[in-house]
Amino acid sequence: MQADKRRPLVAGNWKMHGNLAEARERALAVRAGANGLACELALVPPFLHVPLLAELLRDSPVAVGAQDVSEHASGAYTGEVSAGMLVDAGCRYVIVGHSERRALFGDTDAVVAAKFMAARAAGLVPVLCVGETLAEREAGATGNVVLRQLDAVLAVAGSAAVCAAVLAYEPVWAIGTGLTATPAQAQEVHALLRAHLARKDSQGAAAVRILYGGSVKAGNAGEIFAMPDVDGGLVGGASLDAREFLQICAQAR
Ligand code: PEP
Repeated sequence: MQADKRRPLVAGNWKMHGNLAEARERALAVRAGANGLACELALVPPFLHVPLLAELLRDSPVAVGAQDVSEHASGAYTGEVSAGMLVDAGCRYVIVGHSERRALFGDTDAVVAAKFMAARAAGLVPVLCVGETLAEREAGATGNVVLRQLDAVLAVAGSAAVCAAVLAYEPVWAIGTGLTATPAQAQEVHALLRAHLARKDSQGAAAVRILYGGSVKAGNAGEIFAMPDVDGGLVGGASLDAREFLQICAQAR
């Protein structure tokens, strides 16, 4: 499966935490420790901290991302931030379909697909999150759920665009809970996603990076990242500590 062609990515989703001073300190600490790591790194702060991080991380191995994006390019959408604005501010990546957006802010599969398209149109790399709830896993519906979420984007964007993006498998029951999927559970879903894409585009599927997210920490990252279809991580809570985040990144090879 051409695993050598996939350079791992570890992205730190800071969610809605911290102030500018903390963002500066943490970003500089990550920058200072990022040289020589085998993986690509990205930091994903709240919108208002994006310009600061873009400035602090310029000409460094650490990219900047945003946590969400409007599905609209511009217009009377009070409170929204467009993909073009994120590019202007220095973003390379944007998370779409995070389970918190799906559960708390009404991001349906269709909205996620529209956000994916808006991000691509502006030149951002979407990080498309999929994942099942605990009830869905217990009902044996994990595969159906993640493939439904993926298919919603595939139907609108096509397989080439999806394979040029980044996928993140984030079981909802593992996000911020301290519960982590076992390496085997993660591998099973990652392999399912890749095999589904391979039926449409075998080369693209072999190249697309699929991150795991859900209570990744320095103590469990290595065994999860060692799985053949896991290409790094989307890290929430543990990315708020620069030292631990770098320890996690060091295990993505
Ligand atoms: C996330 O927010 O995407 C996430 C995976 O969070 P945590 O690492 O805290 O579970």
